[in-house]
Amino acid sequence: MNLHEYQGKELLNSFGVRIQRGIVAQNADEAVAAAKKLTEDTGTGWHVIKAQVHAGGRGKGGGVKLAKNLDDVKTIAGQIIGMDLVTPQTSAEGKRVHQVLVAEDVYYPGDSEPEEYYMSVLLNRSTGRNMIMYSTEGGMDIETVAEETPHLIFTEEIDPATGILPFQARKVAFNLGLSGAAFKDMTKFVTALYTAYVKSDSSLFEINPVLKTSDDKIMAVDAKVSLDDNALFRHKDLAELRDLREENPIEVEAGALGLNYVDLDGNVGCMVNGAGLAMATMDLIKQAGGEPANFLDVGGTADAARVEAAFKIILKDPAVKAILINIFGGIVRCDRVAQGVIDAYKNMGNIEVPIIVRLQGTNADIAKELIDNSGLDVQSAVEFQEAADKVQAVLA
Ligand code: GDP
Ligand code: MN
Repeated sequence: MNLHEYQGKELLNSFGVRIQRGIVAQNADEAVAAAKKLTEDTGTGWHVIKAQVHAGGRGKGGGVKLAKNLDDVKTIAGQIIGMDLVTPQTSAEGKRVHQVLVAEDVYYPGDSEPEEYYMSVLLNRSTGRNMIMYSTEGGMDIETVAEETPHLIFTEEIDPATGILPFQARKVAFNLGLSGAAFKDMTKFVTALYTAYVKSDSSLFEINPVLKTSDDKIMAVDAKVSLDDNALFRHKDLAELRDLREENPIEVEAGALGLNYVDLDGNVGCMVNGAGLAMATMDLIKQAGGEPANFLDVGGTADAARVEAAFKIILKDPAVKAILINIFGGIVRCDRVAQGVIDAYKNMGNIEVPIIVRLQGTNADIAKELIDNSGLDVQSAVEFQEAADKVQAVLA
C-alpha cells in the first residue's frame, strides 16, 4: 500500500526525521488558510503547492509550483486541484488531483545553491538484508543516474540483528561529501529514517530530494512510502491512510470479494484458479494472437457464488469481448465448477459475450457433459490449446 507524500512525511516526522513542513488542503481556500498557518509556525514567506497523487515526477508534469504570496497560493492551488496530472509515471490520461500539500519553501531564495541528495531504504532480496541506497545526485530520476553515472550511487547494507550502526551512518554522511553540522545532522537523519522504515514495516522509502539547507539542516523534501500489505494488520493507524481514489475501482471491488484481480489492456477476460495457471493462460491467449483483459485468480473454492462474483468483475471492463474460464479441478471437483458456471450464467441472465470453458482434473468428463447439455452459449474445451483456438475463433 502506497502513502501520499503528506502522509509519508507525517510518518517520518513521528520517528524524528526532519521534514519540509506542510499542511494538506482540499480546495483553494483551505490552501490559503494552510499557507497563513505555515507562515505563523515557520516564518516562511513563500510556499510550494504540491499535487498529492500516487505518482512520481509531479514536478515535471506541473504538479509542484512555487507561490510567492497568498494570491499565488489561491490561484495555483485552484489550478492544481481538479486537474488530471500527467507525469512520466502516469498513463496518458493522468491522475485526478483531489488535494494539495501546501509546504514551506525551504530553498531559501538568494542563498547559495542548496544541495539535493537521493536516499532510499529497501530490501535487498538476494542478501536478505535491508539496504540504504543513496546518491549525491538528488532531484533527478535515480534510473537516469544509474544508467549514466552509476559510480555516484552508494549502498549500505544493514544487518537486521544490529540495526544501523553509528559508523554506517557516518559513512553515508562522508560519501555524500558532508562536513561539520551537516555531517552530524545527516547521521541523525539516516538513523531515524532507517528506524522508521523498520518500525513501520515498510517495503520502500524513497526520499528524493533529501535537502541540505543553506544553514546546514538535512531534511526530507519529498517522501515516497510503500507499506508492506502483509504487515498492515500490525498497523491499524497506517492501514486507515489508504486512499481508494488512487486505486483502480474494479481492483478494489475484486479485492473486497477476495478475488485476486489485476486490470489489463486486452479483450479476453480470464477466470482461472491459481496464479501460475492464470499466468500460463495469459501466455496462451497471447500466443493465439489475443490479449488478456485481466489477470484473475479465483482461488481454491470456485463455487457458484464465487464464479458469479468473478463474472461480474470481468464484465465491468467494457473492453471484454470473450471470456476464457480455465480451471484445474484438483481440490474442487470440475462438475461442481461447471454447475457453478451454469448457475451463475443463468442467474446473471444478460451475459452477451461468448464463453469458453476448459475444465481439467477430477470429474472433467462429467463437467464437459454438463456444459455441452446446458443449452447455454458456453463452449467447452478439453485441451489448453483447443480453448485458446476457440477464443480466437469467437473473436475473429
Ligand atoms: P516529484 O517531482 O513528484 O518527485 O516531487 P518533489 O516533491 O520531489 O518536488 C519536485 C521538485 O520541486 C523538487 O525536486 C524541488 O526541486 C522542487 N521543490 C520542492 N520543494 C521546494 C521548495 O520548498 N522550494 C523550491 N523552490 N522548490 C522546491
Ligand atoms: Mn521527488
